[in-house]
Amino acid sequence: MNSLWINTLKKNKSFPSLSKDIETDICVIGAGIFGLSCAYYLSKLGFKVIVLEKDSIGEKTTGHTTAKITSQHGLFYDYLVNSYSEKFASDYLKVNEMAIKNIKKIIDSEKIKCDFEYQNSYVYTTKKSELSNIKKEVEVVQSLGLPCEFVTKVGLPFNIEGAICFKNQAQFNPLKYLYGLCNGITSNNNKIFTNTTVTNIEKFTDYTYLISSEKNLVRAKFVIVATHYPFINFPGFYFTKMYQSTSYIIAIDTKKTLFNGMYINSTDPIFSFRTAKIAGKKLLLIGGGEHKTGKPSCYADTYGILEKEAKKYYPDCEILYKWNTRDCIPLDKIPYIGEYSTSLPNVFVGTGFKKWGMTSSNVAATIIVDKICNKKNRYEYLFNSSRLKPIKNKDELKNMIVQSANSLVFDKLKSANMSFKDIKNDSGSIIEINNEKVGIYKAPNGKVYAVKPVCTHLGCLLSWNDIDKTWDCPCHGSRFDYRGKNIYDPAFKDLEYYDLNNDY
Ligand SMILES: Cc1cc2nc3c(=O)[nH]c(=O)nc-3n(C[C@H](O)[C@H](O)[C@H](O)COP(=O)(O)OP(=O)(O)OC[C@H]3O[C@@H](n4cnc5c(N)ncnc54)[C@H](O)[C@@H]3O)c2cc1C
Repeated sequence: MNSLWINTLKKNKSFPSLSKDIETDICVIGAGIFGLSCAYYLSKLGFKVIVLEKDSIGEKTTGHTTAKITSQHGLFYDYLVNSYSEKFASDYLKVNEMAIKNIKKIIDSEKIKCDFEYQNSYVYTTKKSELSNIKKEVEVVQSLGLPCEFVTKVGLPFNIEGAICFKNQAQFNPLKYLYGLCNGITSNNNKIFTNTTVTNIEKFTDYTYLISSEKNLVRAKFVIVATHYPFINFPGFYFTKMYQSTSYIIAIDTKKTLFNGMYINSTDPIFSFRTAKIAGKKLLLIGGGEHKTGKPSCYADTYGILEKEAKKYYPDCEILYKWNTRDCIPLDKIPYIGEYSTSLPNVFVGTGFKKWGMTSSNVAATIIVDKICNKKNRYEYLFNSSRLKPIKNKDELKNMIVQSANSLVFDKLKSANMSFKDIKNDSGSIIEINNEKVGIYKAPNGKVYAVKPVCTHLGCLLSWNDIDKTWDCPCHGSRFDYRGKNIYDPAFKDLEYYDLNNDY
């Protein structure tokens, strides 16, 4: 299911795929908000840049985001002061506030019509027991120098106990913004190639890299891995430091007057709200229903709770769009920005934006551009990508290890207990055929699609996602459609497909 942004924008940005070998200064892999922000800044500095994108411009996480542009990353600053230091928290706040200004500067100088509007951003609670956390966050943020406010009245259609308000935050249409970045990149004679999957990066000389797509090679002095989840496993080991989390969004139309402001609540179940103007109409976006990517979930717990929430306050509402996407969550909640690995000099990465990638991607782009220009960036220490500090989030680390171990070993030995006949039309499951595990999907008309249900990233057993009719990896979050075509990273290869229709 595609987002409101993708569904309502005419596809006016098409680029060729790479069809010959090329030499360049900088090769950016991935055309989401991070990759295009890097390519934009570097183009403006006069570098020769090329962007290689596996699919289309911005149609992965960025094209499915809620697109709140804010330094308010949930209740985060008290956590940063306690886990790191006051200076760390203050710098994190400053650099994310600066990112809002940087985004506005790009929009103004490129004259991008992307429905950018300033809005207040709120983290609210409806529970008395949570109020002390909100008040504490207000105190901490004020002490860091941002004049935030504690409020008890907001525009939401229900009563709250209290909220922390950040003023002068913003929202926009993310896809229109990306298209504007593309114009800025190509107007400086730089090139973007879509439908071009990068499969490898290798050192060519001490100062150059060879980047392989399926058919061609690019030679570059600098490489930026902007693939959302880093697709090279060794070195880097990013798969041991992050997991992916999926959230769901619905866009509703109602005759009732809608509020201003962007909202998220402080504890589970998370609900997020913002409005968006589409073709002169103000729609309401409601997000939530989050779970670890690859963990089987049902309609009631995802879109269902959002629809229930929408009907509670807007009984007349019509649900126009619904979609979901996922983001990388670092175990210590700090993005990874900088060198991909100490053994790959001049290869850079930006990842782990933990569902706050609008400002984080701009922060990442400015840090990496400074690195390429050999300029000191006073904020780069916050996001050091090769940090080896002990992971504080021990529970999540344990979860990740157990989940990966189960999916890699135990589940593969465990015999599947579903039989082919048990699988209903429009549903899927793993069964055993001749002692081999096979992932079966039966279409509504009974047509059978069969794949080898083993992730092409690191070999985890996939699970069936009955909401989207996809095969999802519970270890690292790669996703494949029912025909086995890879749709989401970190995997980039398709699943093996079996033709069973003659046998059944
Ligand atoms: C439900 C949800 C709501 C969110 N809401 C907000 C919000 O309100 N505010 C906010 O700040 N953040 C939000 N985020 C987070 C934000 O959307 C992301 O952090 C951000 O979009 C990530 O951008 P990206 O460029 O890293 O990744 P992407 O947009 O996924 O771009 C990566 C690109 O790399 C390409 N690629 C992958 N592998 C290869 C390969 N091998 N070769 C070539 N290309 C490749 C992909 O096709 C893709 O186009 C939200 C996230 C979720 C999940």
